Amino acid sequence: MGKLIIFSAPSGSGKTTVVKHLLSVMPDKMAFSVSATTRKPRPGEENGREYHFLEFDDFEKRIENNEFLEHEEVYAGVLYGTLWSEVHKIWDSGKAVVFDVDVQGGLNLKRRFKQDALAIFLRPPSVEVLMERLRKRSTEVEHHLQERIAKANHELSFENQYDVVVVNDVLEDTLKTCEKLVTDFLNKP
Ligand code: ADP
Ligand code: 5GP
Repeated sequence: MGKLIIFSAPSGSGKTTVVKHLLSVMPDKMAFSVSATTRKPRPGEENGREYHFLEFDDFEKRIENNEFLEHEEVYAGVLYGTLWSEVHKIWDSGKAVVFDVDVQGGLNLKRRFKQDALAIFLRPPSVEVLMERLRKRSTEVEHHLQERIAKANHELSFENQYDVVVVNDVLEDTLKTCEKLVTDFLNKP
């Protein structure tokens, strides 16, 4: 078993941005756990790269077959989950696994793997800024956007259960802080 680096935060807080950066500067040390989801790909997303995009029935079958390390209905009727096969593949290559999972999924992973996991909560400077970033990303239709914002307030109440909270205000500072946190964690015996 290897190490785990978990990023959780409300949608739009910057997880994807931070994770992509870390993977680009430390590609030999870590790899991204490509989750499975039943949501449809966004423009530019590729099956097997951002997510394994599965039909609902297929996802449910895999739950029954115990193929998931964890899974959540993150939004009403939309399933997301971490496949054991992804995690084992990355550990077998000698790297740490990086997760971009919802707050509940992140806490479940942390509880299970304890000191082998670093759980980072990425917080937006405010809910207003979060809304602005989500709107600017313009990947969500309005009712999905409302659902994500409604969920954000609930998710923000879990931040103190994480190992560390990073406020993603100035992106450059956030990237530096996360690089240091992850490097220190990976260097720990
Ligand atoms: P998540 O993966 O948590 O949903 P993203 O990484 O997609 O969030 O970020 C949401 C949007 O906010 C993206 O358009 C991203 O470019 C932008 N963004 C991320 N961090 C910052 C920041 N510190 N300042 C301004 N915009 C940011
Ligand atoms: P998005 O649809 O914006 O890509 O992701 C929506 C939410 O689902 C994000 O909070 C993301 O972290 C979460 N998510 C993505 N993959 C997984 C997963 O495998 N498990 C869990 N629990 N949440 C996930």
